[in-house]
Amino acid sequence: MKIALVGIGKIALDQHVPALRASPDWELAATVSRHGSVDGVEAWRDLDAMLAARSDIRVISLCVPPAPRFDLAAKALQAGRYVMLEKPPGATLSECATLQAMAQNARLGVFATWHSREAAMVAPAKAWLTDKIVRSGRITWREDVRKWHPGQDWVFDAGGMGVFDPGINALSILTEILPCTVHLRAATLEVPQNRQMPIAAQLDFSNNISADFDWRQTGPQTWSIALETDQGTLELHDGGARMVVDGTPQNAPTDALSGEYPRLYQRMAQLVRAGASDMDMRPLTLVADAFMTGARVSVDPFHF
Ligand code: NAP
Repeated sequence: MKIALVGIGKIALDQHVPALRASPDWELAATVSRHGSVDGVEAWRDLDAMLAARSDIRVISLCVPPAPRFDLAAKALQAGRYVMLEKPPGATLSECATLQAMAQNARLGVFATWHSREAAMVAPAKAWLTDKIVRSGRITWREDVRKWHPGQDWVFDAGGMGVFDPGINALSILTEILPCTVHLRAATLEVPQNRQMPIAAQLDFSNNISADFDWRQTGPQTWSIALETDQGTLELHDGGARMVVDGTPQNAPTDALSGEYPRLYQRMAQLVRAGASDMDMRPLTLVADAFMTGARVSVDPFHF
C-alpha cells in the first residue's frame, strides 16, 4: 500500500522512514513537509496539493507535533484517506473524538498510535498481571529534554504538553497492562517561569499508583514502572524493553517483527485492510485530567 509521511522532522527520520523502508506492507510514496524531505521520495510542501495529485496514496501518516495535527488529519480524512497519528493523537480530547467520528462517517479508519505499547515486554507484562490485584505502583519517567527534543520550543508552547510528551508514553503502558481501570486523584505541575507547559509533574492515581515525570534529568535516563500486586512485584524498565518479576529478569518473547515502529505499521496495515479505527484515548484522558486538576508551581526559567 502506498503511504505518505507528513512532517519530516526528528521522529519521521529516526523511526518512521526506516520502519516503512523495511516493511513488506508499505511503499513510502510521498512526503509533505515545509523544510524536510527523504532521499528518493517525491517531496511536497503542501498537503492539499499532494492529496489532489496523488489519489493512489490511500494512507497518510502524520508526524507533526500535536497542535497542528488536527487540521491536517481532517483534510486527509475529507479527501478519503486513512490516517495514522503519532502520539499524543491530538492537542485535545474533543478534536480526537471529531476525527474518530469523521472516519466512521466516511467509512475510513484513524489510528492513534502509542509506540511505547509496542515495547518488547509490554504484552508479557499485561499477560502476567491478568489474574493479579494491583496494590500500589510507582512510575519514574525522568529524561533530559535537551537530549530528546533539542531546540523544539513547541514542547513548551500551549498544546505541546511539556513533560507529558514523554510521560504519556508511561501512561500508555500503564493503561494497557493494568487489569483494572485507573483514574487520576491529584497532580502537581512544575512550570518554568518563562514557559506555558510543565517541565516536571507528580501524579497520584487510584490503586496507590504514583508517577514522577521530570525533564531535567541529565546522565542516566529512567523510564520505569514498578507494580506491587497480591502475588508479587512486576518491574518494567527502559520504557518497557525489560521486565523483572520478583527480582528475576524475564526473557523477551521471540517475535518475528521486532521494534516499536515496525509493529505500529504492521497494525496500521491490518486496520486499513479491515477498514477499522483504533483510537484509545485513555492515556490522553489522564493527561487532560492532570491539566484540569493539577496544582501549578512556578519553577526556574528553562532555556535550551
Ligand atoms: P519535530 O521534529 O519538531 O517536528 C516534526 C515536523 O513537523 C517538523 O520537522 C516540521 O516539518 C513539522 N512541524 C513542526 N511544527 C509544525 C507546525 N506548527 N505546523 C506544521 N508542521 C509543523 O518533532 P518530532 O520530535 O518529530 O515529534 C513529532 C511528534 O512525534 C510529536 O507528537 C512527538 O511527541 C512524537 N514523537 C517524538 C519522538 C522524539 O524522539 N522526538 C519520539 C516519539 C514520538 P516542516 O517544518 O518541514 O513542515
